[in-house]
Amino acid sequence: MKRNKDRSKTAVSKSSGPANDRAWLNAGDDCRSGPPGSSEACRLVLLGAPGVGKSTQAELLRRWSGACHLSTGEVFRAAKNLPPGQRSPAMESAFKFMARGELVPDATVMDVICEQMRCLRGSGGFLLDGFPRTVAQAEALERLLAKENLPLTAAIDYQLPIEQIVERLAGRRVCSNCKGVFQMTAKSPLKVCPACGGKLEQREDDRPEAIRVRMAAYHKSTEPLIEYYRERDLLVTISAEGSPAEIMQRTEEALEARPHVTHL
Ligand code: AMP
Repeated sequence: MKRNKDRSKTAVSKSSGPANDRAWLNAGDDCRSGPPGSSEACRLVLLGAPGVGKSTQAELLRRWSGACHLSTGEVFRAAKNLPPGQRSPAMESAFKFMARGELVPDATVMDVICEQMRCLRGSGGFLLDGFPRTVAQAEALERLLAKENLPLTAAIDYQLPIEQIVERLAGRRVCSNCKGVFQMTAKSPLKVCPACGGKLEQREDDRPEAIRVRMAAYHKSTEPLIEYYRERDLLVTISAEGSPAEIMQRTEEALEARPHVTHL
């Protein structure tokens, strides 16, 4: 896999900074639109418990590979800010599950994915963040990708000890203005957004009650995906300890060590 080797373009500070524009929010101008099935496409599923830093890594991987970053959680959150008339029925029904930290039903999630097909078809590939989250979703994705002739490159599983996960989730803050995501620690409490001075908020599902529900849902529904992708010889396990740049470097090395030919 030949990719952007200039580390200055993939380096990030400890917090992920303002969220980059997403293709699904901007009429697809971030999804490269060449023929599907290109051997250069990077098609990844990102796995890992909530709080391991998947979204930060997805952003770095997006810059490295040119693939489209598709986060189902972000689609749901962004839909919340749309006027009710512009939300699809699937988005509308996702909110109540999300606010409680529960998983959105598989059929609803698949409807949302099918609404974002242009991201999956882009010739640069895609980075699926927060999807699939159940074996049923993984099977539905496999069928969809087989139908579209879009073979997966790998499923990356980011691993972090549970105490560090809980600490990261509890300290995560989102700027209400620029939507940047920042990490608060006991040593560096943040009052306002370091990027734009906006008000920092805690995500509803990062509150302690919702964190407990999300972790339980992860163990029950999402952990089995590790075995699912291992059986298909697609699993790449990466330690999520250390800085985002260190984790990204491990990921790049692991992906570059994989055979060039991709398969489902
Ligand atoms: P995330 O930003 O990935 O942590 O997702 C936030 C919330 O959105 C989750 O706690 C779920 O309620 C919902 N969600 C996002 N993606 C999925 C999915 N693939 N399946 C079910 N629920 C999801």
